[in-house]
Amino acid sequence: MFKILNIEHDDYSLAAKRILKSVGEIHEKELSRAELLDQIKWYDALIVRFGHRVDREVIQAAPYLKAIATATTGLDHIDLKAAAERGVAVISLKGEYEFLRGVSATAEHTWALLLALLRNVPHAFDSVKRGKWDRYSFRGGELYRKSLGIVGYGRIGEKVGKYGRAFDMKIVTYDPYRDKLPKWVKCCDTLDELLALANVVSLHVPLSRETVRMIGHHELSIMTSNSLLINTSRGAIVDESELLYALENNQLAGAALDVVCDEDHLRKTGYHPLVEYARNHSNLLITPHIGGATYESMEKTEIFIAEKLKTFLLESRTGRS
Ligand code: NAD
Repeated sequence: MFKILNIEHDDYSLAAKRILKSVGEIHEKELSRAELLDQIKWYDALIVRFGHRVDREVIQAAPYLKAIATATTGLDHIDLKAAAERGVAVISLKGEYEFLRGVSATAEHTWALLLALLRNVPHAFDSVKRGKWDRYSFRGGELYRKSLGIVGYGRIGEKVGKYGRAFDMKIVTYDPYRDKLPKWVKCCDTLDELLALANVVSLHVPLSRETVRMIGHHELSIMTSNSLLINTSRGAIVDESELLYALENNQLAGAALDVVCDEDHLRKTGYHPLVEYARNHSNLLITPHIGGATYESMEKTEIFIAEKLKTFLLESRTGRS
């Protein structure tokens, strides 16, 4: 029997657990970093979401580790190089295009953020909860015939574009790696071209050396002062100090974020400069990385990853993986 450690097991799919129990013993534990470094040495497989950094130190402390399993597409919480060097497989949703076509949670949340920001929903509701019925302080904008600029036209970007079409928006995209696009999508040759055109810019690229801080001082200065920026990808894709400056100086109308830089630090301390700003300003909306967190998508993805991990572990026993 394999020993499987799940260190992020809150509400973990019962069906996924049943699949894993058929090949191993699952230990569900809440561990500090020090405890993880101490205990990982007993396990064949580690299951995480985003709450822990599986870095070189963790991987090196795990002599029997065969696989790290994560029901996510973004993998920046795992040191892939260190895993490859030690022959540890990373089992994830990355590249599982067929399966992911049926997972719409983050694309839908992108729209929840966009509409909430545009129509001042959180602030209007706060005001109602304070006993007011003020119809005039929360005037918002419309999307009809405006341009939605999608940076990265992959799985999520494509869905966000389709939803935008239902709002009668013009869809423009910048994705140098996509060749075939639907006729109704205008393809920009450069990011600058998209930023100058779009009323709403939505980011759907993976975090990589190429995309880190791809929205910085120059890019924010090209965006028009009535435009909105939505980021449900990764915090580090945006230069946060430049975003703060742009919001403070009304260089853009607003931003809505589901991700920020150093989410670990924010979780532990409750402090982040953008969160501080959002406490007193209505042009910035932040949610705590809940894009993928729907009952449906978490259940589906955890079962899918459990099946993948089970197959991998069984094949490793017969020496086939
Ligand atoms: P995907 O791989 O299907 O699509 C990414 C697209 O970005 C691809 O089409 C690729 O060609 C394009 N791209 C890559 N580099 C680019 C660049 N420099 N400029 C422009 N385009 C570029 O990924 P996806 O499933 O659509 O997910 C996108 C990202 O969303 C993930 O990497 C992850 O970071 C994030 N995500 C967030 C949540 C959440 O809970 N907020 C959930 C799932 C995914």
